[in-house]
Amino acid sequence: MAMAMANLAKRKGFFVLSSESIRYSLSLRGFASGSGSDENDVVIIGGGPGGYVAAIKASQLGLKTTCIEKRGTLGGTCLNVGCIPSKALLHSSHLYHEAKHSFAHHGVKVSSVEVDLPAMLAQKDKAVSNLTRGIEGLFKKNKVNYVKGYGKFVSSSEVSVDTIDGGNTVVKGKHIIVATGSDVKSLPGVTIDEKKIVSSTGALALSEIPKRFVVIGAGYIGLEMGSVWGRLGSEVTVVEFASEIVPTMDAEIRKQFQRSLEKQGMKFKLNTKVVGVDTSGDGVKLSLEPSAGGDQTILEADVVLVSAGRTPFTSGLGLDKIGVETDKVGRILVNERFSTNVSGVYAIGDVIPGPMLAHKAEEDGVACVEYIAGKVGHVDYDKVPGVVYTNPEVAYVGKTEEQVKALGIEYRVGKFPFMANSRAKAIDNAEGLVKILAEKETDKILGVHIMASNAGELIHEAAIALQYDASSEDIARVCHAHPTLSEAVKEAAMATYDKPIHI
Ligand SMILES: Cc1cc2nc3c(=O)[nH]c(=O)nc-3n(C[C@H](O)[C@H](O)[C@H](O)COP(=O)(O)OP(=O)(O)OC[C@H]3O[C@@H](n4cnc5c(N)ncnc54)[C@H](O)[C@@H]3O)c2cc1C
Repeated sequence: MAMAMANLAKRKGFFVLSSESIRYSLSLRGFASGSGSDENDVVIIGGGPGGYVAAIKASQLGLKTTCIEKRGTLGGTCLNVGCIPSKALLHSSHLYHEAKHSFAHHGVKVSSVEVDLPAMLAQKDKAVSNLTRGIEGLFKKNKVNYVKGYGKFVSSSEVSVDTIDGGNTVVKGKHIIVATGSDVKSLPGVTIDEKKIVSSTGALALSEIPKRFVVIGAGYIGLEMGSVWGRLGSEVTVVEFASEIVPTMDAEIRKQFQRSLEKQGMKFKLNTKVVGVDTSGDGVKLSLEPSAGGDQTILEADVVLVSAGRTPFTSGLGLDKIGVETDKVGRILVNERFSTNVSGVYAIGDVIPGPMLAHKAEEDGVACVEYIAGKVGHVDYDKVPGVVYTNPEVAYVGKTEEQVKALGIEYRVGKFPFMANSRAKAIDNAEGLVKILAEKETDKILGVHIMASNAGELIHEAAIALQYDASSEDIARVCHAHPTLSEAVKEAAMATYDKPIHI
């Protein structure tokens, strides 16, 4: 990485510390490493993707590190109740759906396809526990000290921990990183009971397939969970206050994506707000009203998922005691080095501004401890890829066409549909397209948007291109293996600066 940064620096003309000078500055700082001192170089509160990655990296950099986690398992929201269990269920439900609806087209006859929900949930739970235990193993391997309990600041260098076995201990650190993540945002008047009205956590563990599943909020979590239960047989309706789904998506892709979900049976009630909830009967009756006001209607459901965003989690942390500044929605304010206004206290991940995504939290964690170790860290929030893991998936990095227009940049667009991609045709899965936006004058890529069955994997070619300020011609002139879906990225790049071949 140091070499890559140095090469990038040469091309872009900025200064980066060499690995020699980093080693020198580390030795000058004289960090305590290994045992013998009660005080840690780094203490991290929260063992999610931000916190556990920061802890491992800090230890790798020779810093004595302790990570405090209240949950009893590592991996945070992502591994326990977020990214991993949702992707496990998305995959299992996709297999069921394919077996039921697509196998016959491929000449595979199956006489009876049934859902075994307990087995499906058990496979998800097994994936989660294997991965969370794996992180404990990584902590041991990297000599990260792990304290299981609820941490709260006593001072800017001490954290009191109520341990999960009922004890208490005080952990001291020269540098303390808050990585306490986020929690489900509740809606006024809607009480989550995790039975009839569930958060994403409840939606990952329903014991029966609901006949009618209503999702409040058309963000990526709501659409993913709606896809899971829709594939398993629920009638899914998504209620959204705004006029569009997933607001961070490019509008053209979003329209096609919504149409695709509708074709799969998902219903949308956009520009609609929930104004009342009645759980007195067997199911749930939601009172709906147009967002701008108007006549009420009733929508009945068996299970309602509240998925209207997430909120930073700092409850009981004692931030006010040490004077850490937050913004009006409770996010901890940090500078470019992830330092709060209190010396020695840092924050990363979902608890600070920026995209609430696991990979962003991980990047924050690495950059934060690199700064603490006297190195250079960097996270560019404009180049964090976003992926919706439905089928088709939608993945994007960089700017949308709307953002480019709003910035007044003159641009070119290149598109290539998977209908014209040989691999997509060969596997009979040709829905979607690649769309590339590049600056007209320089051909520098500004944004890439992909809707395809595995867009979440394809997007990283674009992420690298953006990171290295590549032009669309740079991508187009790279030899891509045939037949691959990636060839659609190359063809879209050709369409951006010149002409594609296969359409
Ligand atoms: C259903 C769902 C699906 C998702 N899917 C994706 C996805 O596919 N891709 C993606 O990138 N992101 C996804 N996310 C978002 C992702 O999970 C978060 O962005 C990510 O987990 C944030 O990491 P973090 O380390 O900042 O916080 P978290 O993962 O929330 O971890 C914070 C940890 O801190 C602990 N903690 C809090 N307070 C204290 C305290 N005082 N003392 C000790 N411990 C404490 C918590 O128990 C928690 O384990 C999903 C989220 C959900 C809910």
